[in-house]
Amino acid sequence: MGPVFNFRRQESKMVQWDKASEAGLEAFKKFYDCETLEEALSSFNTVCEEAKLPRGGRFTEFFPYLKAAYKEALPYKYKEIFKILEKKAGQSLYERNTIGQIDRNRVLCVGAGPVGLRAAIEVQLLGARVVVVERRPKFTRNNVLKLWKFLIDDLKSLGAKKFYGKFATGSINHINIRSLQLLMTKISLLLGISVYAPCKFDGIAEPVLTEEGSLISGWKAKFSDGHELADSFIFDVVIGASGKNCVLDGFSRYSLDARLAIAITANFVNHWTSEEAAVEEIGGLSRQYDQDFFKEMYTETGVDLENIVYYKDQVHYFVMTAKKESLLEQGVLKEDLADTEDTRGRILNPSNVDKEKLMEYAKKAALYATEHKSQKLPHTEWAIIPRGDKGSPDCCIFDFTNLYAARVAARVTVRKGQPLLATIVGDSLLEPFWPEGTGCARGFLSALDAGWMIRDWFLGKKNPIKILAEREMTRSILNQTTDGNLVKKYKDFTIDPKSRYVTIPTKYDKDKILKYYDSDNPDEIQFLTERFKEKRFFDNAQHKSILKKFRSTFKKSKKPKEVVVAGSAPLSPTIEAGPPVFPKA
Ligand SMILES: Cc1cc2nc3c(=O)[nH]c(=O)nc-3n(C[C@H](O)[C@H](O)[C@H](O)COP(=O)(O)OP(=O)(O)OC[C@H]3O[C@@H](n4cnc5c(N)ncnc54)[C@H](O)[C@@H]3O)c2cc1C
Repeated sequence: MGPVFNFRRQESKMVQWDKASEAGLEAFKKFYDCETLEEALSSFNTVCEEAKLPRGGRFTEFFPYLKAAYKEALPYKYKEIFKILEKKAGQSLYERNTIGQIDRNRVLCVGAGPVGLRAAIEVQLLGARVVVVERRPKFTRNNVLKLWKFLIDDLKSLGAKKFYGKFATGSINHINIRSLQLLMTKISLLLGISVYAPCKFDGIAEPVLTEEGSLISGWKAKFSDGHELADSFIFDVVIGASGKNCVLDGFSRYSLDARLAIAITANFVNHWTSEEAAVEEIGGLSRQYDQDFFKEMYTETGVDLENIVYYKDQVHYFVMTAKKESLLEQGVLKEDLADTEDTRGRILNPSNVDKEKLMEYAKKAALYATEHKSQKLPHTEWAIIPRGDKGSPDCCIFDFTNLYAARVAARVTVRKGQPLLATIVGDSLLEPFWPEGTGCARGFLSALDAGWMIRDWFLGKKNPIKILAEREMTRSILNQTTDGNLVKKYKDFTIDPKSRYVTIPTKYDKDKILKYYDSDNPDEIQFLTERFKEKRFFDNAQHKSILKKFRSTFKKSKKPKEVVVAGSAPLSPTIEAGPPVFPKA
């Protein structure tokens, strides 16, 4: 049977496509059940090849075809995810997953952490062509993330439970980060997002001219490992989701007024024995509410804590905040560096921390807490993190005195008539004091806020400076959000901020916002600024024509121009990769 398709704007119900081969079905099952990033990526490639599909594409170009090739032929267990994703994708604000023109809605997301993937999923559902690049080849982090209530509903609505059966079972409100990243990667791939790993983003390159002297239609990035597919990707929006080290230029940060707080994490192997199963989790104990427990722990072990949490997952995960004095007494910290502006960051320098004593300290806390709250953990065999040749016991110490927040969430740069919207989310936007469980939750809120802004950007109906101003309104309240002060109807949460925040500020500093729209075309700046300041009608067609006119001035140039990314060799002129090509019917 010859497959029949339209390129875009197609209802999934109408799609016909050849059924996948046996090899494809086997690859799908492997993809669905696998436990590593490498297996997920390689088996998904086979899934696509066996269905004669490109490896990713816009939602309407990809998902309905994948579904047509696989859904009916798969056993029940594997089918349901299609239904869940289809339901999600059918939300009215995604407008049939076709928002924006194809030369305005190509999105690069840097970082496959939970927040980058969450943002990527939203823009994919809007209709964008999305590429996620991740510098690590594997997901190896053991941290167990406590999830706010809305996060559980949000992840369930994306089918998290299908890939991770234990997700949010009973009172469990946590998940280890690598399982979360893996399941979100699987969801992303099924929706049509391309995920490239390992692939390290190194910077952005401005639009350049081709050999023929015409301008390529967008921005590109530079990657360390010379990833062919990523290298050729042209994008109009870039999402910086690289964790606490922000990799996008132009996002200055300020230090949050944090107090000295030292956290320790300890991860022990889970052998899934009945003795281990009998040890109960400790959802959160703090000195404030359980003074006697903490005093006795100090008397008996010398370990002095503010709080402790124990979650059981792929590992036995303990996280605690410790008092600096007891870390000095126990020899974990070698020297007490004065608590000044200059020395704060240095107190946990590897040279000032005795790793053996740190591990001893964490073990004592884990054993004491489990023994006194339920049953003593039957062993303390360290989980190993890949580091160096042999790996290293997964016991870490963190200092929260220098937490940073970005001054702005989004900015636009226009060069040669080509606009680029750059935005940051997650830890890049706001470093969390994660012992309070704020990292993932505020990260997801920022991803949804970014999704809303990008939707406006794709629609193109608003003055882009107004779009930036509105994004600033939601950024300004992120640091005050708690599990308790969001709108309570979690199931109704969407990218629309009104569905999530009780109050959203409406006032902003116009002059500050104007600084974040940077164009090399004075006519464009004048046009947008006047309309923004005077709250005048924004005519998208007029704006487009200003951009087009400016672009056309570059076409006359015969000699290709070179562009230099900071710290890199000049990029050679290049042509656009173009949309993914479907096989001929
Ligand atoms: C020990 C520990 C315990 C924690 N516990 C909790 C908790 O209980 N609850 C909670 O909510 N939060 C917790 N957090 C915080 C939480 O992990 C983060 O808030 C969350 O992971 C942020 O997600 P993100 O996607 O913004 O960044 P990350 O998870 O850091 O992901 C960033 C990704 O970008 C990639 N990357 C970086 N640079 C590049 C580049 N140049 N090119 C390509 N890729 C790049 C990285 O490899 C990484 O995969 C904890 C953190 C730690 C360290």
